[in-house]
Amino acid sequence: MAENLLLDIISLCLSIDRKSYKIYEKLSKVEKDNNLRDFWKEMSLGEKFPVEYWREMLYFAEKGMIPQVFDDPVKVKDELETIDAESNLLLKECENMVGHTNSFLLAYSLEFYLLHPAFVLLFHFMRTLPEESKPKDDYENHIQKVIDALKKYGMVTSELELLGKTIKRLWHDSKLLTMQTTIDTLTNVLNRRGLFNAINLLSTLAKRHRYNIGIMMMDIDHFKEINDTYGHQKGDKVLQQVAGLIKRNIRSSDVIGRYGGEEFLIFLAPVDVGFLKKIAEKICKLVETGTKGDLPVTISIGVAKGVIETDVKKELDTLIKKSDEALYKAKSTGRNRVIICD
Ligand code: GH3
Ligand code: MG
Ligand code: MG
Repeated sequence: MAENLLLDIISLCLSIDRKSYKIYEKLSKVEKDNNLRDFWKEMSLGEKFPVEYWREMLYFAEKGMIPQVFDDPVKVKDELETIDAESNLLLKECENMVGHTNSFLLAYSLEFYLLHPAFVLLFHFMRTLPEESKPKDDYENHIQKVIDALKKYGMVTSELELLGKTIKRLWHDSKLLTMQTTIDTLTNVLNRRGLFNAINLLSTLAKRHRYNIGIMMMDIDHFKEINDTYGHQKGDKVLQQVAGLIKRNIRSSDVIGRYGGEEFLIFLAPVDVGFLKKIAEKICKLVETGTKGDLPVTISIGVAKGVIETDVKKELDTLIKKSDEALYKAKSTGRNRVIICD
């Protein structure tokens, strides 16, 4: 039931964005001014990215890889159905478009519909992915283009100007709010929820491409002593420093998240498994040397590797468990070291 609702919601987002494409295309057809016609055409082409994006998301949703991000999916679905119907009306209105101001007002109505929290939340969900696998998010550019075009074609009225600013600000603020649900505010890496959202989905991609996956579970050595000796605030600083050091030194395609208190997990895919030990040892060394000047700490790392064959969630879970066992071994054999499980 809940999964079907999510599929319905994503299908509605797809339908609304497809309609946006048609609306901008139609505006370009009825427009008499050559330059403005090209502008509407460009806007319609801009809708191609979100359409591809929703298609990709539908694929993941069908595989059960998109978490239920909505508290009340029935309400969201109802609201999106209304928006879908309203965009149909906008599409009809394009036929009778006379005068440029009206067409800009119509464009703003459309962009306003695309500000529904469902779009913001789902966009954000995909934004937690690393650069390479992140679908192109062009919404802010999109709305900025309408604002710029208003100026360029000399059609700014104070009302339209304010409307543009309002829509842009709304998008920005909603984005910021949703970001806070998946980022760890202390260390600025993904929190546990964000981490699992991202790696569940990336594991599905890895299965599709038969990529090798590497999981590194890392834990700061004798961290309790730091808190006990120097206080919790100093402990927090060390956590920030260690997370920053690691984050700056991994590939942009790798995902790092705070798994627990002073434990971090790195997900690497695709990865050359022959290099995993070297990569982990480099990270170990980096933390040791990088913290030398201030409050020296070391970390221990447990590494697991594998390819996902059938059940993504179950096999990912097994890999994480294995990395945890390897970490335990690294701790019990002296710390500040890497153990790779077979
Ligand atoms: P080991 O080498 O075996 O990992 O020893 P340890 O002392 O690091 O392990 P232990 O699990 O005993 O202690 C972890 C400590 O991490 C305990 C907890 O107070 C601290 N911790 C967890 N989250 C935070 C945090 O957000 N800030 C601070 N300052 N400390 C935290
Ligand atoms: Mg520890
Ligand atoms: Mg620990």
